[in-house]
Amino acid sequence: MSIFEKVLEIYQKYHVCIHCLGRMFSLLATNTTNFERGYSLLLTLTMENHQKSLSSDVNHEIYTKNLRIIAEKAHFIPARQVLMKQGIKLAPILSSEKCYLCNDIFSNLEIYAQDAINKIRDIEFNNFLVGSAPSSQMINREDIFKAEFNLLESESIKSHFNRELGKVLSSSLHKSPEFLTPDITIIFNLSPISHSIDLLIRSVFIYGRYNKYLRDIPQTHWNCRNCMGKGCKLCDFTGKQYMTSVEELISPIFLSETNATDSKFHGGGREDIDVRMLGEGRPFIIELRNPKKRTLNLHQIQKSVNKKNRKKIKISKLRNSSKAEVKSLKKSAESTRKTYLAKVLSEQKVSKEIFITNLTKLREVFVNNKIKQRTPVRVSHRRSDKVREKSIYKIEGKYQKPTLFEFLIETQGGVYIKELINGDDGRTTPSFSEIFNCPLLCKELDVLKID
Ligand SMILES: [Zn+2]
Ligand SMILES: [Zn+2]
Repeated sequence: MSIFEKVLEIYQKYHVCIHCLGRMFSLLATNTTNFERGYSLLLTLTMENHQKSLSSDVNHEIYTKNLRIIAEKAHFIPARQVLMKQGIKLAPILSSEKCYLCNDIFSNLEIYAQDAINKIRDIEFNNFLVGSAPSSQMINREDIFKAEFNLLESESIKSHFNRELGKVLSSSLHKSPEFLTPDITIIFNLSPISHSIDLLIRSVFIYGRYNKYLRDIPQTHWNCRNCMGKGCKLCDFTGKQYMTSVEELISPIFLSETNATDSKFHGGGREDIDVRMLGEGRPFIIELRNPKKRTLNLHQIQKSVNKKNRKKIKISKLRNSSKAEVKSLKKSAESTRKTYLAKVLSEQKVSKEIFITNLTKLREVFVNNKIKQRTPVRVSHRRSDKVREKSIYKIEGKYQKPTLFEFLIETQGGVYIKELINGDDGRTTPSFSEIFNCPLLCKELDVLKID
């Protein structure tokens, strides 16, 4: 069956718009639009039947009948005019008769575009992408239609809509579509009776480093262990195990500057609650979700955060980041070198001479060797129980009192320093306690450097 015969067969049964007619033959001919495809088909059909209807062919009434189908069911104006000039009366075009496949969506793209523009008015973005979710009713109807007329060269209504609406939006917004990482994705939920719009706004990621000067706050917010965050007597109905955290001190200013709905704090590793983070700080990335503003004055934000949290925390080296960098930040946390300063208490008195002998032993045993460290009991609720092999790169020691020493320790990331010193009942081996042959306890710990 020729394409023309198929088109006439379709219009004997249904009214479909020119866009949808063209979509049924999308894979045929390139560098044109579905509208142009549909229009060309109807125009050629009109011309051919017009010519034949004027001929002396005995079947000329069939051609007039074909013209009538194109005029009345396709609502095609050139065919209507041919017949009206011949004095033939035609059924009027009823505005209630809508395209069987799209319900006239493609004739009303401007309305859809305007709805989207209203919806994104207050959102900053450099580029966008149009997506759509046609209702299952529309998709089923189109599938059955294609099967009925054996239409094998069609395109999906979804990609047709996305492209055409993208063109309209692009020219009204003066912004180009972006297919890989759009700042904003405008999703149209399409159905024959209504439509709605959902927005997906790409998160903003900001990299920085933080210092922590307090010994009693965690890196991120912790739910109260008793009520799991719901609020109870034990947590004074805050739902929190700790009153604040590095995350909670940093994020409010970012949230208000971007007008984001929420944020997530990604740390490049973490220190214990009672451990300070000194030196150049620890890398972090803050992810701001559904931001309305994405061009930020990072210098100003850094100043505000630091001014508000003086002596508690400090942030520095802010710059724009990405989702990909969050992954590499998490991955690299285990492999980076870290330098710690540990204040260590000894249960027994140790003379300076013995300390120096033991320090030499420590270096012989540990430096450039691997230790075996089983997950400490105190973190076993959040990390799997296994033995990790870790490297120690450098140890320096300072004798302060017979029961008080200071150690500067450089290690691979992920070493539990407190357990490296006390031995954790044999779970970390060797340990400083083992070498000193007396129980040692890490009283205070600071992170001085993260490479
Ligand atoms: Zn249509
Ligand atoms: Zn609670």
